[in-house]
Amino acid sequence: MVRRQIEARGITDSKVVAAIRKIPRHLFVSEALMDQAYNDFPLPIGEQQTISQPYIVAEMTQALQLEKEDRVLEIGTGSGYQAAVLAELAFRVYTIERIHPLYVKTRKLFDNLHYHNIVSRYSDGSLGWEEESPFDAIIVTAGAPEIPKVLLNQLDMGGRMVLPVGDQYSQELVKLYRDEDGIHKTHLGGCRFVKLVGEHGWRAL
Ligand code: SAM
Repeated sequence: MVRRQIEARGITDSKVVAAIRKIPRHLFVSEALMDQAYNDFPLPIGEQQTISQPYIVAEMTQALQLEKEDRVLEIGTGSGYQAAVLAELAFRVYTIERIHPLYVKTRKLFDNLHYHNIVSRYSDGSLGWEEESPFDAIIVTAGAPEIPKVLLNQLDMGGRMVLPVGDQYSQELVKLYRDEDGIHKTHLGGCRFVKLVGEHGWRAL
């Protein structure tokens, strides 16, 4: 998986590659899908949600340019896999999930895998995590209709944020960087995520 899907497509950050190599991705999917865990596509994780394609996890993680002392906010815990990748690279990961059974399941999983630097919360992540802000990096792993300003306000000086922005069928992966001059935006390419549902995302049905 790492050689064919990640390195071959231009992921060059050796720390990101090492983290992905280390984490047993099959532990983050149901037993029935374990034999597909290393394939080049997203997989269902229940509750109509997905674990992202390995390459997208690598691309978003690389774009965050994490340092060992960084505090990272993730919106959309899902299977917990992306949080585990972040936890290998940063000081602490704060992750938020809005679907209760996924939140409960991943809490147990983080404990079982001894990820003591992941703090998780059950709430609407489109509001961010004000009490723990500012963050060095923010990653949103669900598609937003637009960039939530409230999240940008929780980004520290020098901070990086990566998120998919677009309609519910396709989005553009956007990277934002904050410095003294303001916010700088770059586009990383097309992607397709499930919806960010919440006050600063899409409305729940
Ligand atoms: N990062 C995940 C992983 O590694 O498996 C993949 C996330 S999945 C593509 C998107 C997740 O975002 C779903 O679990 C969904 O319930 C969650 N989500 C959507 N809107 C949310 C919100 N407002 N707050 C928190 N989580 C949200």
